[in-house]
Amino acid sequence: MIASNPQPFYTLAEGTPLPRNDTSVQVRNKNGGGLVLLQDTQLIETLAHFSRERIPERVVHAKAAGARGYFEVTHDISDITDADFLNGIGKRSELLTRISTVGAESGSADTVRDVHGWAIKIKTNEGNNDWVFNNQPVFFIRDPIKFPSVNRSHKRHPATHSTDADMFWDFHVNAPESAHLLMFLFGDRGTPASLRNINGYSGHTYKWTKKDGSFHYVKIHIHADAGIKTITDEESIRLAGESPDYLTLDLYNAIESGNFPSYTVSIQTIHPKDIASCPVNIFDMTKIWPHSLYPLRPVGKMVFDTNPRNYFAEIEQAAFSPSTMVPGIEASADPMLQARMFAYPDAQRYRLGVNYQQLPTNAAKSPIYIPTERDGAFTYGLNYGDDPNYLNTAIEPISFHDTSASQYKPTEESLHGPIVFTSEVTDEDFKQPRALWNDVLSKDEQDRFIHNISRNIAGVKRDWLREKVYELFRKVDKSLGDRIEEAVRALLEETKA
Ligand code: NDP
Repeated sequence: MIASNPQPFYTLAEGTPLPRNDTSVQVRNKNGGGLVLLQDTQLIETLAHFSRERIPERVVHAKAAGARGYFEVTHDISDITDADFLNGIGKRSELLTRISTVGAESGSADTVRDVHGWAIKIKTNEGNNDWVFNNQPVFFIRDPIKFPSVNRSHKRHPATHSTDADMFWDFHVNAPESAHLLMFLFGDRGTPASLRNINGYSGHTYKWTKKDGSFHYVKIHIHADAGIKTITDEESIRLAGESPDYLTLDLYNAIESGNFPSYTVSIQTIHPKDIASCPVNIFDMTKIWPHSLYPLRPVGKMVFDTNPRNYFAEIEQAAFSPSTMVPGIEASADPMLQARMFAYPDAQRYRLGVNYQQLPTNAAKSPIYIPTERDGAFTYGLNYGDDPNYLNTAIEPISFHDTSASQYKPTEESLHGPIVFTSEVTDEDFKQPRALWNDVLSKDEQDRFIHNISRNIAGVKRDWLREKVYELFRKVDKSLGDRIEEAVRALLEETKA
């Protein structure tokens, strides 16, 4: 990695020493003007590099803060998984994290009301393990075909190039399974006060496995040791204007001053034989598993103790994917997880190139040997020298059939059944948001929810669409829909007056 120049002078990128770097070579005329020359390589490279110093920004999760730190095992869970980094109390693995908003662009404000993505790359002895989580336990949708649409509806209108409340709500009234996450988004947790005070959730169901072929379904929860802290809607809007990088700087400054944020990692587990007795479809990302039936089991802790020295190299070029897993962790039949396992590496190949895993920030610390993936733009290192570049060779020293080095075998699970459409919405989709509204939120939290969401819905231009939004929330709870309608009507009256 290019860190700092150990030399007392500047050079061209090819190493040629420069007498000075602050002037172009010019043919001066007697009136003081000057013509620059094509032979001025330093000038040409300086200008050309500047025009090319952006890479495509992430289509979602573009604005982020990042840090380094470690994951430490605090509890024995050897009955659930053989993953090396999760076994052995006290064992530490280094990690890289990136915490983002979702919809807005790289230059946008941190405090806008949004879901926060929370990606964590744990560098283990068995390869990298990525957790690509959110700060809310559920997602808007359970069918991946809606993934681009939900994101576009939160981004910019194709004509006005501006966010658009009609577009946002038009999507959600037509995808009412999103009611659960909307309840979080417009609640207090939609505007965190600090990234040190958020929770993280896998949302997805994973399989944590043992070498004997046994496995459990697992959801992962991360709790901020300093507790949840949030700001009001008004405060989030004020900070978006006055201090757009508020959350990024808060995390950076806390780590810089030695105030290292820490988080507890826990799991909920379900044995495959118990799926039938589970009240929800465990592969549906719009649902939580009730704590009363599936209590949290602590696993470890995470501490962020190091700031990036260079944001672009370490955080912007970091590439996370839910498909990056170690032996002992496997994907489940969660359709959203399956789709993200394709979409995320595909996005990285587009953004960073086909060899993105070789970038220093992404490179595994365990040995890598995959000589059938070679060449391509920005091949770093020796590119496997003269090792065979094809499968099924008997040429020494590598036999591709020699699996003795890895004893890992994926678990067996037989999946069969009819082809179904997963978007059908029933009252099941409103039970959990109803529980959140009636059983979890305090009266003050309910009042703030109504305040926050009505301000947003008041931005909808079409009367009939606002009516549909009230109906959506009446399905969660009649009084909730009624209260939202009353609050929106009052706001619209105020605007008219
Ligand atoms: P519980 O009463 O056992 O759990 C409720 C959970 O809600 C708490 O443990 C806490 O989760 C979370 N919570 C507390 N205050 C708020 C808030 N102001 N805004 C959002 N979440 C809050 O009941 P259940 O497990 O049966 O869940 C009931 C409802 O609570 C669910 O339908 C869901 O909407 C919500 N919930 C459930 C979670 C789960 O994984 N079971 C997680 C988060 C929310 P935490 O400790 O993770 O902050």
